[in-house]
Amino acid sequence: MNCPPELRDGLSRRELFQQCDGLTYNDFLVLPGFIDFTADSVELSTPLTKKVQLKTPFVSSPMDTVTEAEMAIAMALCGGIGIIHHNCTPEYQGNEVHKVKNYKHGFIRDPWCLSKEHTVGDVWDLKKKNGFSGYPITENGKLGSKLLGIVTTRDVDISSANTSTKLETVMTPFKDIVAAQNGVTLQEANEILERSKKGKLPIINEKNELVALIARTDIKKSRNYPRASKDGNKQLLVGAAIGTRKEDRERLKILVENGVDVIVLDSSQGNSSFQIDMVKFIKSTYPVLQVIAGNVVTRGQAKNLIDAGADGLRVGMGSGSICITQEVMACGCPQATAVYQVSSYASKFGVPVIADGGIQNVGHIIKALCLGASTVMMGSLLAGTTEAPGEYFYKNDIRLKKYRGMGSLDAMEKQDAKGSAMSRYFHSDMDKLKVAQGVSGCIVDKGSVLAFLPYLECGLQHSCQDIGCNSLQQLSERIQNDEVRFMKRTHSAQLEGNVHGLFSYEKRLF
Ligand code: GDP
Ligand code: 5GP
Repeated sequence: MNCPPELRDGLSRRELFQQCDGLTYNDFLVLPGFIDFTADSVELSTPLTKKVQLKTPFVSSPMDTVTEAEMAIAMALCGGIGIIHHNCTPEYQGNEVHKVKNYKHGFIRDPWCLSKEHTVGDVWDLKKKNGFSGYPITENGKLGSKLLGIVTTRDVDISSANTSTKLETVMTPFKDIVAAQNGVTLQEANEILERSKKGKLPIINEKNELVALIARTDIKKSRNYPRASKDGNKQLLVGAAIGTRKEDRERLKILVENGVDVIVLDSSQGNSSFQIDMVKFIKSTYPVLQVIAGNVVTRGQAKNLIDAGADGLRVGMGSGSICITQEVMACGCPQATAVYQVSSYASKFGVPVIADGGIQNVGHIIKALCLGASTVMMGSLLAGTTEAPGEYFYKNDIRLKKYRGMGSLDAMEKQDAKGSAMSRYFHSDMDKLKVAQGVSGCIVDKGSVLAFLPYLECGLQHSCQDIGCNSLQQLSERIQNDEVRFMKRTHSAQLEGNVHGLFSYEKRLF
């Protein structure tokens, strides 16, 4: 039931930003509408770029503590997409893309392996760190080498074993292992595990080299992901970030060879001749490949990238949880205003906008969408999950993972096997002295993204229901014609809108 125009309270989206004061997501609310549908029927399909459509508006940020293959797989399974970071060698990044494109549900493609020289103590340490205790034993302790045996909980908790006992003496040797040949389907593997009553099924090739592992627990909890983001070949969608230097063209080639679907040009200030040239180069060399340009926060910036041929824009400067750009550079824009400014302009050209940074909860996601964004990009909200790169560690008995800005000195100076290639915050090789634009910190263990994203999705559906829109498409239309109404919040209104007046409370979200 539509509200008559004379009874419309609050402000239209344009009126909300009329005074040009920079607003954040916390500075306003969306007024409720009329409900004549159930929350679970709310349709969350939305465009990521001109040609790529997602089933949910969730994008994981190209940060080295957020998105590698495992995160990108989980994001795509849940209807969103992950953008693989580029703080690594082109080969490493290409391989992460390859893993997503070749993902087969239920198979652990890079199982943690040990050698027979490792000890029972090593398994206990790894169990504490990884949470599981089933480890295939291979000749060189790595995937791809000859399978010699397997250790599981029951091999290492026997009383005769002490921490220095070599795995060779406790493992189940190859001759007693139930394994399956490469090429086995998930259903066949399931039947083998049921018959053998084993917990792990190593997958080997004709030379008895380990190629994958299947865990019974995964099969038991295996769900279908009918809303997974897939290409025409039924492979998961994946994006990857690159810079705008000459050598990034070589990186791009490797990513394309590995089947990347979307390229994100990763720059904190995207309105540059370098980026315009790169957009044009990609569109002329790989016309089918979708290119997301950015970051931008003003219409003027957006115009140049849209004119160059960008298929999507990434919006945000200095609003991320780990950013110090606004403090150090005095340059940027409050995020709600930035999303409004850019998306109201980009929508005229059919260019979708990603609201990037500063998303702390479901409320921020729906607000970004109400301001015209089609999707949201998240860093801190997804960091600390099982699928985020990096290992858990303990501080004061709290399980944590590292989360850092890509412009932090920590990220820019990183030296490890993955290699380093951060150019997002440096414009030329002449930049000898690094000026940090981000911080490095840690974040509490959040469990699996496969549990967290359905919570975000469900929360978003309820939010759309309160606003009275049965799809993101309808939300977008009703914002355009001023039916969705907004209200600014004073400081005291913000306090009122949060929990107050309690001695203590527990905040469980799902
Ligand atoms: P375990 O019996 O202690 O090894 O644990 P489970 O088999 O019950 O659970 C292991 C969980 O960790 C499963 O969901 C696996 O998919 C997951 N996992 C992720 N990476 C690995 C890996 O490298 N090795 C093993 N064994 N499990 C992994
Ligand atoms: P979050 O979701 O944590 O609030 O923000 C993540 C976003 O912050 C990223 O997608 C990226 O746009 C931005 N970002 C990542 N690292 C840095 C950094 O070191 N400095 C700044 N200014 N922004 C960063």
